[in-house]
Amino acid sequence: MASGVLTVDLDALVENWRSLDALSGAETGAVVKADGYGLGAGRVARALARAGARRFFVAMAGEGAALREALGPGPEINVFSGHMSGDTDMISDLGLTPMINSLDQLLRHVEALPGHPFGVQLDSGMNRLGMEPGEWAAVRDIAESQNLNLVMSHLACADEPNHDMNRHQLATFTEMTQGVQAPRSLSATGGILLGRDYHFEVTRPGIGLYGGLPFDLATPVITLDLPVIQVRDVAPGESVGYGNTWIAEEETRIATLAAGYADGIHRILSNRTQLYAGDTPCPLRGRVSMDLLTVDVTHLSEVPPSLSLVNKVQKIDTLATEAGTIGYELLTSLGARYTRRYVGA
Ligand SMILES: *Cc1c(COP(=O)(O)O)cnc(C)c1O
Repeated sequence: MASGVLTVDLDALVENWRSLDALSGAETGAVVKADGYGLGAGRVARALARAGARRFFVAMAGEGAALREALGPGPEINVFSGHMSGDTDMISDLGLTPMINSLDQLLRHVEALPGHPFGVQLDSGMNRLGMEPGEWAAVRDIAESQNLNLVMSHLACADEPNHDMNRHQLATFTEMTQGVQAPRSLSATGGILLGRDYHFEVTRPGIGLYGGLPFDLATPVITLDLPVIQVRDVAPGESVGYGNTWIAEEETRIATLAAGYADGIHRILSNRTQLYAGDTPCPLRGRVSMDLLTVDVTHLSEVPPSLSLVNKVQKIDTLATEAGTIGYELLTSLGARYTRRYVGA
């Protein structure tokens, strides 16, 4: 087969959810936006639902609709972008819970779907989504007289435990939600690791489920194996790939693999990372092309049918750091051309 294989270990995913659940002094939900951080929202969510997750979060109503098809009735599906115009039918027919972000959205929601449950997102300092303190104070009574079932906010600096912003947002959120009857939620993965004060009644981990930082005790969830299409010997002085950026100093064996920047292997990794034959590193030589990688396999006694870019040795955050980015971006960039294989659960 000429496509790479992205293997998703659903047992590892479930183990990560259970570990974060054990740390949470609260109900632990699961964030499966952006197609489950690129790993397949339906498969991921079904595995977590079987493990006991009852509440899922997505960014957009369309994602929520697809998720409802995968999960069936029962689990709560919360939509971070709230109730946008055009979303009403999906929210109503598929039983989604919009997280209302503004007065406009609140009016839209209670007019279009009176009695339909909703949550509210508050801005505790990040200035991205949610109602500001003044706006919330003005509509809180209306919201609480309707079917309000979750009040949440989001931390800007939770991956830096000592950042003052964490305590500031905790204080703001606590004050804004004083006396609220509905369950409250402040923490994603980073906030769970900050301790119980940050957990309230519901937590919302995403990246930690998928094996990424800041959850440094996470079990790796994915492996990425890329097939070797061709092997050639390159003489000293010859170059490899676009722009001749790598030139052989000695007799070198180069394997050409079927994946490139169109598959989320960032071009900045050119000449900078390595792939693995089992535990043996094999340096990437030359530029990453759209569909191909060229890898030094001179030191291998036998070239295997595929090399791995992500495995237990080289985790997503290792690769992300080499690419100057974060695990989140790496995962959600993994393209549509891989064969996604699910094991476990
Ligand atoms: C993406 C997101 C999460 C999950 O964050 P992680 O850092 O991946 O755990 C939680 N809440 C909101 C509002 C988000 O946008």
